[in-house]
Parts: sequence; C-alpha cells; structure tokens
Amino acid sequence: MGIIVQKFGGTSVFPKERLLSAAQKVVKAKREGNDPVVVVSAPGRKGDPYATDTLIRNVQEIDPQIPVDKRELDLVMTCGEIIGIVWMAQAIKAVGGYKTIALTGGQAGIYTDQQFGNARIVRIDPTPVEEALKAGFIPVVAGFQGVTEHGHGVGHGQITTLGRGGSDTTAGALAAALNAQSCIIYTDVDGVLTADPRLVGAKARLLPSVTYEEVSEMAHLGARVVHPRCVEIAMNHRIPVWVRNAEGDREGTVIKERASDLPTRMFRITGITHLPQVAQVKVSVAEQEDLAEVETEIYRLLGEAGMVPYFVSKSRSFFEFAVVRHHLELLRSLLDGLTLPISANGHLRAYILTTDPDRVIHRERRRLLQRSQRDWVLLDAPIEITTNCAIVSLVTLNTREVPGIMARILEAMVDSEVDILQVADAQHSVSCLIREEDMVTAVRVLHEHFRLDDENTQQLQPIP
Ligand code: ADP
Ligand code: MG
Repeated sequence: MGIIVQKFGGTSVFPKERLLSAAQKVVKAKREGNDPVVVVSAPGRKGDPYATDTLIRNVQEIDPQIPVDKRELDLVMTCGEIIGIVWMAQAIKAVGGYKTIALTGGQAGIYTDQQFGNARIVRIDPTPVEEALKAGFIPVVAGFQGVTEHGHGVGHGQITTLGRGGSDTTAGALAAALNAQSCIIYTDVDGVLTADPRLVGAKARLLPSVTYEEVSEMAHLGARVVHPRCVEIAMNHRIPVWVRNAEGDREGTVIKERASDLPTRMFRITGITHLPQVAQVKVSVAEQEDLAEVETEIYRLLGEAGMVPYFVSKSRSFFEFAVVRHHLELLRSLLDGLTLPISANGHLRAYILTTDPDRVIHRERRRLLQRSQRDWVLLDAPIEITTNCAIVSLVTLNTREVPGIMARILEAMVDSEVDILQVADAQHSVSCLIREEDMVTAVRVLHEHFRLDDENTQQLQPIP
C-alpha cells in the first residue's frame, strides 16, 4: 500500500451525482489502505458554467476587439480547477468523513516556467502534499496549473496553466515527485481504445494493456484520452498508469510496460488516431541551388516562434510541411512579405516570400527594394497554404520491422477514395496528411481494414 494519484477529468466531477461517485472512488482507495492524492480538472465540458472554455469566453466577450492579457487569461482559467478542488474536498468529507485539504497548484508545490498558457513544470516540491498526508488529510490538488518560481518583470508566484490536457500532466508529475505506486486517470470512456469512439462508435475496442510508447504516440497524434507528458513522465519514473471510466468498476487500460521490456521481434497494430485542424504549407523557389538556404531560414524562424512542423519534405524546387492550424496566423505574420537575401555563390539574390504576389503592398515592397538595391535579383517565393487538412495515423508497436504496412494503408485509402497529401513514418506510427473532410472516413476505413474491432488484432504478433 502506498500513495495513489487519482485524477478526475471535467466530466467526472460534474454534475453533482458524478462528483459524489468520483469521491466514492477516493474513499474506497483510502479504505483499502492507500494514501490517495486527488487531482481535479475544471468541472464539466464545453458550455458548462465553470468549464475552461466558458471562463475564457466570459472575459473575451467584454470587448472582443481587445485581446486578453495572457497572464490574466491564465488567472481566470485556473478558477475552474480551484472550484473543482473545493467541491471534491467537500464531497470526500460528505461521502467518507475523511479530512481533506484543497490545494492550488502553487500550494501543492508545482513550479513552472513563465510561459503563460502553455507552461512546463520545472520542479515539484513534494513537501506540502507529503505533510498533508502525514497529518492524515487527503490532499486534493488543482490540475492544469502551477506558479512561477523565479520571475522577472511581473515577479515570482505568477499563476500559470499547463495547456490542454494539463491536468493529466499534473497527475503524472505529482505521481513521480511523490514516488507513487500508481497514477489513475478517470475519464468518460473505458480506457485507451483502438480509436476515438466518437468516430467509430462501439467498434472501438479497449486495449487492456499497452506500452508507454504506444500510448504516448497515440496521444501525440491526437488521441486526447491522456496527455503525452503524463505518460512520458510516468515512463521515466516507471510508474504504472491506469486509464479508467469514472463510472462503474471496470479495470480499464494499464500502461506499465516499455516497448523494450517486451520480447524482441514482436509487433502489434495498436489503433487509429486523428488530429483535425492542420494546414499544409508549400514554399517554392525559382533557383534550385537556393532551396537549402531558404528552407533553413524558414525552419529556423518557425523554431524560434515555437512552431513544430510535421511532414517535412522536399523536392527539387519546393519544400512542404504541415502545422497545426492554430499556428497559421502566426506563420503568415512571420513569412508573408518576408525578404530573404541569399548569400550563396556570390549571387546577389533575394526572395520575397508571399502568399499572394499580386497584392498591392507586395508589388510596392518589391518596387522599393529594387530601387534601393539595383544589383539585386528579386525573385518571388510563393507560399501555398492548404488550410483544411487533418492527420490520420496508424499507431503500432514497431512499424518499421514489418514489411507491407504502407501498401495496406494506401490500399485502404485508395479504395475509399481518400486522397493522401503526404505520408510520414516513425518507429511506432505511420501518419497520413489528408483533407479534413475525409478524416472520419479515413479513420473508419483504417479501423476496419486493419480489423481493429477484432480483439485478436490486439495480441502481440511475431514479426514476419
Ligand atoms: P477528460 O475530461 O476526462 O480529461 P477528455 O475529453 O480529455 O476527458 O478525454 C476523453 C475523450 O478522449 C473520450 O471521450 C474520447 O472521445 C477521446 N478519445 C480520443 N481518442 C481516444 C482513444 N484512442 N481512446 C479513448 N478515448 C479517446
Ligand atoms: Mg483530458
């Protein structure tokens, strides 16, 4: 018996009946002799009064023309979890009569960097939670938040949020800092499934046991059932993670093996994931020999702005990549109209990057540049953006060991007339960039084609 971190998602603590039944799980763990440490998300789902989206919208609606300060957005966003912990602390008292203490992220010793909206945990001081446990309290910690430890400008102790799905990260990181015996993620589905049941319905099958690597890959590629950081922290500290339904008493999914722990030369098709709202970007240059320099500069700029390109690929005269659509505006503001001088081979060439060469501002910029730099050769580097894309991936254990996977994916997609714009493979996945309108079809077709609705598919297979 030891410390168990129990994390409850928003739908698991709202409305009241769910809150009480979640509290029952905590009480049960305590009665069985464990030391539960509870992590709670903001109560409810999109549209509910204390859900994170509602809290943000309420502020934005005051005057949509005035952007909300990032620091203040974090202040308001963390209120949902703070309400959640007080409710949960009260519910545990009501259901089991135990002493509880509700702690904000900062009060629980969770320190982050200063990146408001998407902060990273830099350190956890386990003392406050450990002392609460020692004094006989059940600590109830607000997920998704922390405080800055060392600040400049606005100073230390600023309240930060950890980004979407951040309560899972809180749970994983707390479990690691407390050296917990396990971390249980309670949610609104039975565990990690072969695909999102919202897309494939009852055909989605439960994965009773799956490696950290497979789940982390699924999470990175869009399965939001558990956050990838949670799984990765748990993997590094060898803490078993369970994903379970907050309703009922089913076992759910256990994640406690590493791919490298398994017998060698084994293989499995794990599931299908989807990531909507992606954009494809293509940049062309007139002179082949300049491609590498233009490409390097652009990827450097993206990196500095914190954007991660997917599906990086190139041909002789252009290169392509994809970004999440929510970065598109930033990408446009960085690249559209940018002038890139090329130093190679003694030429004086400059590329003007543009999404629309005919725009007046663009023509004017070109005229002025040409006037001031007569020796330059000015060339257009057109940027083409396909806005409505999605990534659909086949997640596996050891893709690269198994011949023929690519052919099977292409076969399924061609049969269902889904156009593949780009493909990328990795150790535990093959991903296809497709049009967003084809996303649901692609997920269903791949799920069917790889027989993921058949439980035998989930068994590890020897590599042929
Ligand atoms: P919580 O509020 O509990 O954190 P989330 O909405 O973040 O819940 O995550 C649970 C949801 O993840 C499920 O309702 C399901 O629609 C979705 N999901 C996506 N992919 C998967 C998958 N492979 N297995 C299980 N659930 C998935
Ligand atoms: Mg979640």
